[in-house]
Amino acid sequence: MTGMTETPTSYDGPTPYDGIEPGLARSLAGRVAAQQPQWPDGTAVREVRAELAELPPLVEADAVGRLTGRLAEVALGRALLLQGGDCAETFAQNTPDHLRANLRTLLHCATVLEVASGLPVVPVGRIAGQYAKPRSKPVGDDGLPAYRGDIVHSALATAEARRPDPRRMLTAYADAQAALGTVRATAAETNTEVFTSHEALLLDYELPLVRAGYGLSGHFLWIGERTRDMDGAHLALFRHLANPIGLKLGPGARPEQVLAYAEALDPDRRPGRLTLISRMGADRVTEVLPPLVSAVAAAGHPVVWLCDPMHGNTRTTASGLKTRHFDRIAAEVEGYFAVHRELDSHPGGLHLEFTGDDVTECLGGREDLREEQLPERYLTACDPRLNGRQSLDLARLVAEILLRRPARRDAVRV
Ligand code: PEP
Ligand code: MN
Repeated sequence: MTGMTETPTSYDGPTPYDGIEPGLARSLAGRVAAQQPQWPDGTAVREVRAELAELPPLVEADAVGRLTGRLAEVALGRALLLQGGDCAETFAQNTPDHLRANLRTLLHCATVLEVASGLPVVPVGRIAGQYAKPRSKPVGDDGLPAYRGDIVHSALATAEARRPDPRRMLTAYADAQAALGTVRATAAETNTEVFTSHEALLLDYELPLVRAGYGLSGHFLWIGERTRDMDGAHLALFRHLANPIGLKLGPGARPEQVLAYAEALDPDRRPGRLTLISRMGADRVTEVLPPLVSAVAAAGHPVVWLCDPMHGNTRTTASGLKTRHFDRIAAEVEGYFAVHRELDSHPGGLHLEFTGDDVTECLGGREDLREEQLPERYLTACDPRLNGRQSLDLARLVAEILLRRPARRDAVRV
């Protein structure tokens, strides 16, 4: 018995998930969980889950509730959301310097958007929990198990390092707790409430941190493009959670499917509950997004729409580095805002992968970073991030779009 395996397996009800809330255990019964590691030892997994279940929650339900209130303002067109940070946080980079650099970038960009829009911007980091990664292929080109994040195993390229180790979930918990200290310190210094978020992918970590119906591993949790099977375990978990939640939507999403998600995840049509994160790619966004926005609006779901211009615009260079060009990212943002303007819908904000560190992972921007420069400081554990300057370039671009045409005409005071 290995708990969850790489080949999606079904839950057998509360037996494998002893110790979690009974209502949640019932709704997970028989559900398939995609993208889970193949733990070598089921007993060790259960021990770790039991330990996590005894630990205090990482965030407070009150703060989660405040975030829902802030996101309700976004849903109603009276605020914007800026969500961003590392693609994959690592244990090695869980340093106050790195965390502060990322938070600084988040807050700088938020200020630019605030000044341009005249609207408050809600800052949400991809921080203090973004340790698990979904992968398109279980085995990489090097023949090793694909890296699924520091919460599962080490990124080092050996078979030994890639063996999943459930005790790393306890390290992730401790690192998230430490990171939250830096988040709170930054919040206090800047007098801004900063919220945390991550993809709630690894169920052995997330489930024991569900307390009284709240997922208390972070304030905002999202479901990724690869785990949004309507009948899957992740959807079952998210229906149960009282948090504000996100759902990534790639170019394959169809209007009827998105309506079914909205009905399942936001049955009460509560502003701030559901954020739909569009990641269509620069070439597809103006074609694929409009019917989704129209269908959701017609059904009366007051969702937050968010633009992730990163995940549909990734390519691999001849030398094998994953990268993104600033111009493609900018093009998706332009297309996204054009769609919402056309439909008189509130554009909501942005979901970005960035770091305040001086990395060379994405191409272009004002500094015109070139392909031959990528190896200089290519430090990401997963997807390429905008560096601090490129992030501000993007924020300025959004500011120009907002100044050309306000986010919401009725929100403008004359
Ligand atoms: C991510 O946000 O890092 C990610 C994997 O995104 P998506 O699920 O949209 O591919
Ligand atoms: Mn990513």
